[in-house]
Amino acid sequence: MVDNRIHIHSISLGLSQAYLIEVGDRLVLVDAGMPHQQNRILKRIHDLGNRRLDLIFITHAHIDHYGSAAALRRATRAPIIIHESDAIPMARGETQLGLARRQGKLMPLLLSLIERILKPEPTEADATLKDRDDLGEYGFNAEVLHTPGHTFGSSCLVVNGEIGFVGDLLSTNGKPHLQRFFAQDWSLLRDSIHKINRLPLRQVYPGHGARTLSGKELKRLVAEER
Ligand SMILES: [Zn+2]
Ligand SMILES: [Zn+2]
Repeated sequence: MVDNRIHIHSISLGLSQAYLIEVGDRLVLVDAGMPHQQNRILKRIHDLGNRRLDLIFITHAHIDHYGSAAALRRATRAPIIIHESDAIPMARGETQLGLARRQGKLMPLLLSLIERILKPEPTEADATLKDRDDLGEYGFNAEVLHTPGHTFGSSCLVVNGEIGFVGDLLSTNGKPHLQRFFAQDWSLLRDSIHKINRLPLRQVYPGHGARTLSGKELKRLVAEER
């Protein structure tokens, strides 16, 4: 009999969260932290019994989500997949932050400093994704939901129709909140939040913050912020 039980291992990487999803004999990584964090992620894979990593799913092309993806691919040979709209900035080693780049005097300075010190490795995707793509070809019951706004190619991974990995749509750093600092397009972001909120999600895993939310908590959060 095939064991399709899901185990989700949360990896707190300081700034952002990554997740290892174990389904039967498959192992998928959601997001890959900042540059130089590959060993922390490899250690967690090792602790699971030195399993083979099958896939690296990146929610969006920001330095704190794909920073160690290329290094992890070299170490594991797992392919990297990302929505087609964020594949180009990732391949260039960019972090697109829209208007945040022009916010005040400190922010642009800070961002360019961070990028000079921690330039993410330009990372070519092995395959690109579109809305509603399903990951069956990777032996994995999951669907991609394109949820643009934070970046144009931000996307969520929905496993078994009920577990959502939502990247930077949501943060539980401090009080759980919807993304409200960076967006390339705020109106798209609003639509995307409603798109994910319409799903019958049981559990929601954010890109920042170790706390996860139930589907009910997400619905309450969206209703409050309206
Ligand atoms: Zn981001
Ligand atoms: Zn982030």
